[in-house]
Amino acid sequence: MGVLGIAKRVLDTTISKNLGTFIYLTTFRCNGTCDFCCFKNSINKKFDELSIDEIKKIIEKLPEIKDLAISGGETFLRKDIVEICKEFNKIKPDELCLPTNGIMTEYIAGKTEEILKNINYKLVPTVSVEGMEKTHNKSRGHFRETVATCAEFRKLREKYPEKFDFKINTVIRKDNIDELDEFSDWVYTNIKPSYHSFELVREKPCHISDMLPEVEKLKKMKAVFMKNSKRYDLGYGGGLRTKLTASLNSALFDYYISIIENKKALPCLAGKLSTVLYPNGDVSVCELLPPIGNVRDYEYDIPKMLKNAKIPKNCWCTHTCFQIANVKYSLRGWNVWLKKILKAN
Ligand code: SF4
Ligand code: SF4
Repeated sequence: MGVLGIAKRVLDTTISKNLGTFIYLTTFRCNGTCDFCCFKNSINKKFDELSIDEIKKIIEKLPEIKDLAISGGETFLRKDIVEICKEFNKIKPDELCLPTNGIMTEYIAGKTEEILKNINYKLVPTVSVEGMEKTHNKSRGHFRETVATCAEFRKLREKYPEKFDFKINTVIRKDNIDELDEFSDWVYTNIKPSYHSFELVREKPCHISDMLPEVEKLKKMKAVFMKNSKRYDLGYGGGLRTKLTASLNSALFDYYISIIENKKALPCLAGKLSTVLYPNGDVSVCELLPPIGNVRDYEYDIPKMLKNAKIPKNCWCTHTCFQIANVKYSLRGWNVWLKKILKAN
C-alpha cells in the first residue's frame, strides 16, 4: 500500500471503524509442534469449525476489506480451503496473506495453484522458517520439506507473476537470535522470497515472554531489520517511497523496543481497524484478548458485534502485526514516524 493509501486508512480509522484487516483462523488443527505457538492450548483440540455455508453468511455481512489473512493452525488442513478463498472474492481484498508451516510440500503446492485459479486477488503465502536447519528443526521440525515448499512457490511465482508471491516470517526468540543475521543472508540468497519479516515472540497482553531475548540483543537486530528493508525490492524503485518505507521500518523497530522497555504502547486500534474470527465462530478484536462473542449468536454479523467492542485501557503487547497497524494507521503513530523522518534528514 502506498503512502496515499496509508493516509486514507489513517483518516478512515480516525473518523470511523473501518475494519481494514480481517484475520480468519480457519482451523486449530495443525501438523506442527512449535514450542512457542501462541495457540498451543487450542491446537488439535476438538472445535466445531465454521462450515462453508456459515462462512458465506459471514462474508455477506462484511464490508469490502483490503487486507485479508487466512490462517490457522495449519490452514491447508482445511479440506475446503480453495472454496473458502474463493468466497472471499466478494469482499475485494487487495491481497491474501496465507501463513503456512510448509510441511506438506506437494499438497500445499497443488492447493495453492487451485486457489490461484479461483480468486481475483493476489495470493501471498507466508512460510514460517525459524533459522538454519538445526535451529528450525529444534523448534518446528521439517526444515527440508519447508524449504522444498518455498522452491514450489518460486515455480508458481514464475507461472503467475502478477497474482502470486511468497514471504518468509521468522519469530525472534532467545534460541535463534544469535544466528538471525547469517540466516537472513541465507534466506535472501537461497530462498528468494519477496520479503523476509521478523516478529517478536508473543505473550498474553501486558506480559513479556520468557522466550524473548534481552533488550540489548534485540537492539542489535535493527541492523538485520534495516538490511532486509533495503535489499528486498518492495516495488518502490528506490525513490521517495523506498525512503519512506525504510524510515517507517526504522520507526517500527524503535517502537517495538520502547514497548518492551517502557511496557506501554500507542492506543490500540484492534477492533477498530481489524478483527479476528476463530475456527468455531468466536470473534475477538485481536489474537490475544478473549473473544467478545460467537458469530453464531449474532446472525453472523461481525460488524454489528464490533460496534460496542472495547479494549482494556493501557493495553500493550508484543504482537508485532497489530503494533505495525497502530503506527501506520493512527495520527499518533504518524507522529512517531514523522519524527524519525525529520531526524534522518
Ligand atoms: S505451525 Fe503454527 S499453528 Fe502449528 S504449532 Fe506451529 S506456530 Fe502453532
Ligand atoms: S495491545 Fe492491542 S493487539 Fe495487543 S493485546 Fe491489547 S488490544 Fe490486543
